[in-house]
Amino acid sequence: MAGADYYSCDKCGRKTYYDAEVDYDGLGSMAALCEDCDKTHAAIIVERSQVSVRLAAEAVVQAAEAYVVALDAPAEETIKACDTLYEAVLAHRKAKEEASRG
Ligand SMILES: [Zn+2]
Repeated sequence: MAGADYYSCDKCGRKTYYDAEVDYDGLGSMAALCEDCDKTHAAIIVERSQVSVRLAAEAVVQAAEAYVVALDAPAEETIKACDTLYEAVLAHRKAKEEASRG
């Protein structure tokens, strides 16, 4: 019950601020990052129509980073990363097409 009075970091789950100090009247959505996660992550506001494109783009970036790491790893890991990157690119393309269709 101790954690229930606090809003937690949306990245790591650490307590970020005391719930009772916040007026939730009219709240739609919210996100919070603790001090530590804020050093490496950002809370970004995106139009709903762009959410799938943004998620796909993030997947491509993550897969590309995994690929770069895998280049120094055994062949099996590199092939796995290539597959992930390829799937991410396909997902990105699909999201882009869906977004352009409206
Ligand atoms: Zn955190």
